[in-house]
Amino acid sequence: MMETPFRFGLERVRDLRAHDEERAKEQFAASLSQRVRGEALLRAADERLRTALHGQGVIGTFAGPRDPGTAWIHAHHSLGLIGGWSFVEGGVGRISELLADAARDAGAVIVDDAPVAAIAPQVGVHLDDGTLVGADVVVSNADPVRTLALLDAGGERADAFASAVSQWQITSPVVKVNCALARRPSFVAAHGDPTVFRAQVEIARSIDDTQSACDAARDGVASPEWCELYFQTAYDLSVAPPEFDTMSVFAQYAPYTLASESWDEARERIADDVLAAIGHFAPDVADCVAERQVLGPPDVEARVGLTGGHIFQGECLPAQMWERRFGARTGVDGVYLCGAATHPGGSVMAVNGRNAAAAVLADRSTKAASVRRV
Ligand SMILES: Cc1cc2nc3c(=O)[nH]c(=O)nc-3n(C[C@H](O)[C@H](O)[C@H](O)COP(=O)(O)OP(=O)(O)OC[C@H]3O[C@@H](n4cnc5c(N)ncnc54)[C@H](O)[C@@H]3O)c2cc1C
Repeated sequence: MMETPFRFGLERVRDLRAHDEERAKEQFAASLSQRVRGEALLRAADERLRTALHGQGVIGTFAGPRDPGTAWIHAHHSLGLIGGWSFVEGGVGRISELLADAARDAGAVIVDDAPVAAIAPQVGVHLDDGTLVGADVVVSNADPVRTLALLDAGGERADAFASAVSQWQITSPVVKVNCALARRPSFVAAHGDPTVFRAQVEIARSIDDTQSACDAARDGVASPEWCELYFQTAYDLSVAPPEFDTMSVFAQYAPYTLASESWDEARERIADDVLAAIGHFAPDVADCVAERQVLGPPDVEARVGLTGGHIFQGECLPAQMWERRFGARTGVDGVYLCGAATHPGGSVMAVNGRNAAAAVLADRSTKAASVRRV
């Protein structure tokens, strides 16, 4: 268990002003090299410390700690330390609400609960109810698999986009168990210290156990072994009625497709296994749970609209990062992506949207200039 957040020198970056991009890049490079030194120390550190920290290299990723590329996942999550990982008062949905308020103040019209049935490039979008919303530019934050399925376009550029999407790795190993607690569990190692509930709690028995769980999930067997827990009510009482605490559990590994049963058959048993994994460290945890919501990858797919249930709209391993990630431009005129599948990857970071807006504005000004020349 550790106090959240842990830092390897990135706090310096947090203080930089947004417009000072060159300085930010230098500072970030320096911080990464510091981080590499931190990792070297970690290799020599106590086994218990390594066990506690390795999960940041696999979180949200269908890969084990011994698989190549997971050091980058560790670094990607360190990007969050630039702003500081935080709880959002009122829940993370408040960010969307505040952005919506700001957009409305700026004159935007927002329609929600209106699924898009098709994207017609340079014409607009057709909603499920048949309405056509006219637009010469469509910016989609649906993941690329969904965006492609909606795209009503042919030709070489659409084919190139389809080919990139067909190779996209987008299957999640995560099962979420969101709990209302009648009381807080007793972590043996905390000896009653309530600080634990304000921490990012890592559940892991060993690096090898986490790797074995990942390997089992590759064979279609759900093996929740590594978990990350948050107790939001330790910071924000507004998210639950006064008689409850909350505990959200992010557990791995649980594959989208189970080898010998359906998620409907296995869901509650897998949740019991998640609580049993936590029970190694807090034996009374199952007795503390008053209500629970269990979301395997197919559930996240159905509820949130994310293909494969993947929280980042696709793996953030090196094979799908940087120049290998999607850009804002799909290649199809007038159709852009702005979600987590685009550079620089997933998390509530806003950079993807900023990049998409910049691409739309740049293309508009190029188009306007060429019209003027004619
Ligand atoms: C369980 C979970 C835990 C996470 N934990 C964290 C965390 O602790 N910290 C963090 O920074 N990030 C976390 N993430 C990741 C983070 O939420 C995402 O990276 C971020 O939300 C990506 O935003 P986005 O704009 O790409 O849209 P997404 O959140 O990917 O949403 C895509 C949207 O497209 C919509 N959509 C799809 N098809 C259609 C259609 N046909 N018509 C209309 N709309 C459609 C979906 O309904 C959805 O709202 C988590 C994600 C999940 C699922």
